[in-house]
Amino acid sequence: RPPKRYAVIGNPIAHSRSPSIHADFARQTGVELQYERLLAPLDGFDDTLDRLHAAGGAGANVTVPFKVQAWQRASRHLSPRARLAGAVNTLWWQDGELYGCNTDGIGLVRDLERLEAPLAGASILVLGAGGAARGAIPALIEAGCARVRVANRTESRAVELARLFASETHNATLEAGGFGAAADPTGWDIVINATASSLADELPALPEGVYRPGVLAYDMVYSAQPTAFMREASQHGARTADGLGMLVEQAAESFAIWHGVRPSTAQTIARLRAELAR
Ligand code: NDP
Repeated sequence: RPPKRYAVIGNPIAHSRSPSIHADFARQTGVELQYERLLAPLDGFDDTLDRLHAAGGAGANVTVPFKVQAWQRASRHLSPRARLAGAVNTLWWQDGELYGCNTDGIGLVRDLERLEAPLAGASILVLGAGGAARGAIPALIEAGCARVRVANRTESRAVELARLFASETHNATLEAGGFGAAADPTGWDIVINATASSLADELPALPEGVYRPGVLAYDMVYSAQPTAFMREASQHGARTADGLGMLVEQAAESFAIWHGVRPSTAQTIARLRAELAR
């Protein structure tokens, strides 16, 4: 039997590290698979997905800018996580039907656990109100944090996002606002940058006092050098991390869904870190 066929679909896609991550996991677990990059035209996500399926595809990861379209395609069979996130990054076919899950949020949670940042009872400031924040918030709530504040440059989007999760807060407090009101007298345990600011080497315009010793400042963006957000936080004594671990952890969750075995991630994170530094 030929190995099962998978792909990551996005635009752009040339720099996606997903094929090498899944190849690592396959070697480690003895699963045989084929995993390629598929560049979909901006108006051609559906066609690209259909062609993958017609060619015997078993599943796909989906990245920018198609996660919402993937959610719509899998609307009949969404995991609870995907339903809440409003976006899908993991698709698979079963008995001819398309299923969808979102592993970004749980990937973030796994990475925070790896970094030994306790989530139970934590106060967490989430910067940003786009797709990444939307995936993260329900996963953080599910992991038992006590308080989440969503702060966004465009305040109304933060308020909208918090409203969306208003009935899913369990015992957590969920707040929303602009960057200006994001300081907290009792202090945050974790500040997560789920904005795209670091891609432009910019900083979310936060008030003084957010970053301090004891805080973990986590940027979902990853790069060879510390991002502007990480540099600022670290100048004020906070511990910092970038999103490379999240990238690998979300892939491990996808792999577990597809193949029924969860690979370990440490070696792959170390390999990618070394490659980034080169
Ligand atoms: P979206 O385009 O959906 O959202 C962008 C968000 O960033 C908005 O909240 C926007 O604010 C904010 N923003 C953009 N530029 C700036 C800026 N210069 N200053 C302050 N805020 C800014 O993007 P996503 O939510 O999909 O992705 C966000 C980031 O997370 C990306 O950089 C992506 O690479 C990263 N990511 C990493 C993952 C990983 O595995 N490591 C997984 C998923 C995402 P406004 O509403 O005001 O425009």
